[in-house]
Amino acid sequence: MNQDGTGLVTRSGSLPSEPYDVTVVGAGVVGAALARELARYRLRVAVVESSDDVGEGTSKANTAILHTGFDAVPGSLEARLVREGQRLLSAYAAECGIPVERVGALLVAWDEEQLAALPSLLEKAGRNGHDEAALLDAAEVRAREPHLGPGALGALEVPGESIICPWTTPLAFATQAVRSGVDLHLNCRLTAVGQGDAADGTPHTLRTSRGDVRTRYLVNAAGLGADTVDRMLGHDTFTVTPRRGQLIVFDKLARDLVRHILLPVPTALGKGVLVAPTVYGNVLLGPTAEDLDDKQATGSTAEGLAGLREKGARILPELLDEDVTAVYAGLRAATEDDDYQIHARPGQRYVTVGGIRSTGLTASMAIAAYVTGLLADCGLDLGGESRELAPVTMPNLGENFPRPYQRAELIAADPEYGALVCHCERVTRGEIRDALASTVAPGSLDGLRRRTRARGGRCQGFYCGAAVRELFDRRDWLATR
Ligand SMILES: Cc1cc2nc3c(=O)[nH]c(=O)nc-3n(C[C@H](O)[C@H](O)[C@H](O)COP(=O)(O)OP(=O)(O)OC[C@H]3O[C@@H](n4cnc5c(N)ncnc54)[C@H](O)[C@@H]3O)c2cc1C
Repeated sequence: MNQDGTGLVTRSGSLPSEPYDVTVVGAGVVGAALARELARYRLRVAVVESSDDVGEGTSKANTAILHTGFDAVPGSLEARLVREGQRLLSAYAAECGIPVERVGALLVAWDEEQLAALPSLLEKAGRNGHDEAALLDAAEVRAREPHLGPGALGALEVPGESIICPWTTPLAFATQAVRSGVDLHLNCRLTAVGQGDAADGTPHTLRTSRGDVRTRYLVNAAGLGADTVDRMLGHDTFTVTPRRGQLIVFDKLARDLVRHILLPVPTALGKGVLVAPTVYGNVLLGPTAEDLDDKQATGSTAEGLAGLREKGARILPELLDEDVTAVYAGLRAATEDDDYQIHARPGQRYVTVGGIRSTGLTASMAIAAYVTGLLADCGLDLGGESRELAPVTMPNLGENFPRPYQRAELIAADPEYGALVCHCERVTRGEIRDALASTVAPGSLDGLRRRTRARGGRCQGFYCGAAVRELFDRRDWLATR
């Protein structure tokens, strides 16, 4: 922590020698939410993250839906935390400017069997507390979604389902955590744990790629690596099997084709292939669900994309005529269990937060509050009541909210907000400068894209790439302007 109470963001060099009260392994959306929650207490907190940025793992590559949890298994931990997390994140997003659009979802039945399954899904939604869900007949479905393919027999409407910016969310958490005193150590992979002694208070020694860190309490929020970290502490209770989800991003001209999140009736393998708008104004088609054994396999395959196009052609045939802006894939941290793998080990002053498969973005803030309670149960002295954190305001990346290039008063005060660099996504020099000078600054061009949308449009950086790179390469100079 600095003298002004702000935490450190480090990317290289040795680590502080003073022991932390709590260290979180992993700066995905879950680890970042936890860091923010812990920052509300009088604690010395660190996050160690193996990559060079926040939200660089599964958290950067999902379908970006703020779920209601209408279809979760009633009574499961996931159902509870998704429902609570949706409430918390909706309020937090409004407070700090994370774009959210409450577009609602339609769960579309394409055959008699699926149609017959809708009433029980409605009943399940009710048991999960979503009484506003309703059944629609074929004519009502078509009236709501005029571009839907032929053959839709009916749907379950879930009005509360929303789309959200998945990139701003972990960044907002991390920014607020660091400004409130949490240290964030990037490029810092945990490789082994020398366990301390709870009886005499000896801290654990975490061996990392940047040297040792000492900590009294440890939280494993390592996503795909959560089973590996768990084994470092002697536990063999679950194995992460990466479940790949490939997605296609369609051009913004496709946005008018779809009004809701269009979901299929779920199968045992997951929620199935959906069509959904994004807060950036694109349309997503995906994801696939492929169980793999390689935790690095985030590539797209011709077979996977062809399968998506086949399914998309039935749901929204005109979508297939639109240009593709990008493809990507994310890996869900699936385990042999259907529920989250959150376990407290009081004797080790250790909490595992694993198996956060397909709902972790939504549930992140509720997971953070739950895990903080578990740490207290493990003996962590929270040092009194929690405090309100100074609010943060994040740059708006949402297409349905005013962007800097549209704000005359902002441009009059600072002409840099009128100087477009990325024309596809309308990103200005002012926004790039701000991102480079931000509390958790990007360490790469991809990180800059997640903070500004620069190079994320239909040309994918073909036209603006050199200009964006030049600004990025001059970041130390720009950050002082
Ligand atoms: C295709 C797809 C679609 C999805 N759609 C949605 C959705 O619409 N809505 C929703 O709510 N959720 C969705 N999810 C789920 C959501 O993205 C995840 O649940 C969430 O991102 C998990 O966050 P995390 O912080 O647990 O993991 P991660 O984001 O993977 O973060 C874990 C971090 O730990 C770090 N790490 C690992 N090992 C170590 C180590 N030894 N030392 C230091 N650091 C380490 C990693 O580098 C990584 O940054 C989807 C997931 C996928 C794949």
